Amino acid sequence: MQSSSEKTSWFPIMLRLDEARVLVIGGGNIAANKVRLLVPTGARIELLSPTLCPELQRLADDGVLTHVPGLVSEDDVRARLPGCRLVYIATNDTTLNRSLAAVCQQQNVPVCAVDDPGNSSFITPALSTRGAVQVAVSTGGAAPVLARRLRAKIEEILPAGLHLLADFMQNARLPLRARLPDPSDRRQVWERFLDGAGGNLAMSGQTEAARQELNNLLEGHTRQGEVWLVGAGPGDPNLLTLAALRLMQDADTVLYDNLIGPDILNYVRRDAELIFVGKQRNRHTLPQEGINAELVRRAKAGERVLRLKGGDPFIFGRGGEEIETLTEAGVPFRIIPGISAANGCAAYAGIPLTHRDCAQACLFITGHAKADGTLDLAWETIALRSQTVVIYMGLTMLPQLSAQLIEHGLPADWPAALVERGTTPQQRVITGTLATLPEQAVAENVTSPALIIIGEVVRHRVSPTLPEA
Ligand code: SAH
Repeated sequence: MQSSSEKTSWFPIMLRLDEARVLVIGGGNIAANKVRLLVPTGARIELLSPTLCPELQRLADDGVLTHVPGLVSEDDVRARLPGCRLVYIATNDTTLNRSLAAVCQQQNVPVCAVDDPGNSSFITPALSTRGAVQVAVSTGGAAPVLARRLRAKIEEILPAGLHLLADFMQNARLPLRARLPDPSDRRQVWERFLDGAGGNLAMSGQTEAARQELNNLLEGHTRQGEVWLVGAGPGDPNLLTLAALRLMQDADTVLYDNLIGPDILNYVRRDAELIFVGKQRNRHTLPQEGINAELVRRAKAGERVLRLKGGDPFIFGRGGEEIETLTEAGVPFRIIPGISAANGCAAYAGIPLTHRDCAQACLFITGHAKADGTLDLAWETIALRSQTVVIYMGLTMLPQLSAQLIEHGLPADWPAALVERGTTPQQRVITGTLATLPEQAVAENVTSPALIIIGEVVRHRVSPTLPEA
């Protein structure tokens, strides 16, 4: 395997062939596989090969392709390249394949040397086709057998009438555009159509009933903006809820925090507008009032706005303030919970937040200092041995937090842990005691986001196998 192919990242596109000239070099079964893919596209296929397998011979006899007989040389290929849209090379001579591919590359004509991604400028994915619907699976040439397995799985789940549904939607596109000029309106109608009865009607061939359904949706459609307050979990995208994922696919606009990493944003619909409104200590990109106002303004303009927050929106997430503003402004909203940092970090670090032997309660507190730099917490209720204390936003104030807890009665050697970037590939867990943790945090250069877990449960820590990405 060429190392160059391992580094290549392939860009998927759909290419129109219509009447374009396409060269296929080789006359065996592998060439026939490619020809079979090309025939329905309407391409004009020129096949260069001294011999033909029976299937290709039949296609040549039927005039579906033009057979150019004789041994193939670099000069033959070079002479045929002008005006050619793409080339498949599939002779049984790998050295010849490679040298012919080089000729195509020199002339900038897209070429696929079969089974040799290192010398190809394009590769062909494994395809599942249902009329206009095509699902392509590719491993970038890394593992074609795996791609075919995945395709087989996809084949199983694609509904039988999918092509009918695609046809129906295609036919309705232009009339719908005339009635609803705004793309976002049309998307809403189509989503309701697919989520409701329409999709199944069209798939089972009940075109008239499907048309009626679409009409009803059109007539009932009024553009309604909404805000979705969604918790994205602590970092690992595997911890997104299905509801979050679905709304991420439906949103027009996404306002997200600095706790939301690229791994999560990756799941947002490609053409949604992404707006960073992250709050970081001492660096407020948009003040909270600004965010609240922006949510209202956009929803009133008819947008479906996703307010994506780290962890759970109602746990130290200021979600409460946002929905108060929305309620006052009469903007409809939904709230989707997320896995909070305490749950996510504890699970991935292997610390049971409550454990029968030592913790009857678990307290979530904020370690964020007041404007004057002090901490105003009910220390007597926090410094209890019978509970676990989880501190959000506590890294900067860790020395004070730890000193106060010791002063209010917890032993200096009381177990404590820090989880930095919990649930992400960069997760670090540092365990120690109330007395040692502040120094450990400095020595290990722990940075935000980090969560502090205090209590005997830290001693019950186990090392879980982390979920695979
Ligand atoms: N709504 C969020 C919390 C927002 S407050 C939730 O429910 O998780 C921000 C604080 O959460 C950070 O300062 C840190 O203490 C904690 N936090 C969030 N994500 C974290 C992560 N992946 N690892 C460790 N701490 C995290």
